[in-house]
Amino acid sequence: MLKLGFAGFNKKQRNAYFAKHKLNFAPAGIPFSTPSPASTYNGIAQCAKLGLFAMEVEFVHGVRMKEDMAKKCGALAKEKGISLSIHAPYYINLCSDEDAKLANSRRHILESAQAGHFLNASPIVFHPGFYQGRASEECMKKTIFQMEKIFSEMQKNKWNNVNLSPELTGKKSAFGNLEEIVSLSHHFGLKKCIPTIDFAHFHARTSPLKTASDYAKIFDYCEKKLGSAFAKNLHCHVSGINFSEKGERNHLPLSSNSPPYKPLLKLLKERGYAGTVVCESPLLEKDALLLQKEFEKA
Ligand SMILES: [Zn+2]
Repeated sequence: MLKLGFAGFNKKQRNAYFAKHKLNFAPAGIPFSTPSPASTYNGIAQCAKLGLFAMEVEFVHGVRMKEDMAKKCGALAKEKGISLSIHAPYYINLCSDEDAKLANSRRHILESAQAGHFLNASPIVFHPGFYQGRASEECMKKTIFQMEKIFSEMQKNKWNNVNLSPELTGKKSAFGNLEEIVSLSHHFGLKKCIPTIDFAHFHARTSPLKTASDYAKIFDYCEKKLGSAFAKNLHCHVSGINFSEKGERNHLPLSSNSPPYKPLLKLLKERGYAGTVVCESPLLEKDALLLQKEFEKA
């Protein structure tokens, strides 16, 4: 039986919560406890019931949501005070050498951005690509070139409320380490492009996170490169992780304690960061609620 953070709340209470705590906690997808059918619409209603104030909509296997449904879900989220973000499909490689792959990658992001526009969901989180033997600088140039095309298409369609967010990737073979995603964000500006910091991925591909000061180094770096506005636009992924010398294998529940979440929550509170913490643990809402409760206590 789940212990609820808040047994039922309305939008006013939700706004009061955000004013006090500044952070939303989200499951990465439709909560398991959602009554059948487990749709995005029902998932949003379930988040409201559970007392979670955000949800990341997982379009990881492709965007199949039609305009009507997206608008319906967006209206429910607005009514319930649930803030939405989107995880774009996995099949993206913006630094590929193959034109067909680039066109498909742009399509996946644009379809996500369109859904984001109708859902009023932002940012659109995506894994930027793979090195495939190329240097970081070359991947950076290629990715920027593709993102420029995507942004200009978004502008044409007036999807201006949607932010594109490259995620810190978990495998060493994947373009998108901390420096690279922050660089992309710096290039386009935080209004259009915020980084998604996945702490488990950093732990797996870069260096183990153990103490609050390990987390602080990441935040200090982001603030130095992106300015103080970074602290008002935090989007991050939290979970445990199983990894090898090549990086990420799979995500684990928070209880695995690797990396530890308590020092992170304490630091987030001390610094008063605002934004959304998405829980990517396989236990979804159970661990999202655990994070939220721990954060309140921190
Ligand atoms: Zn991801």
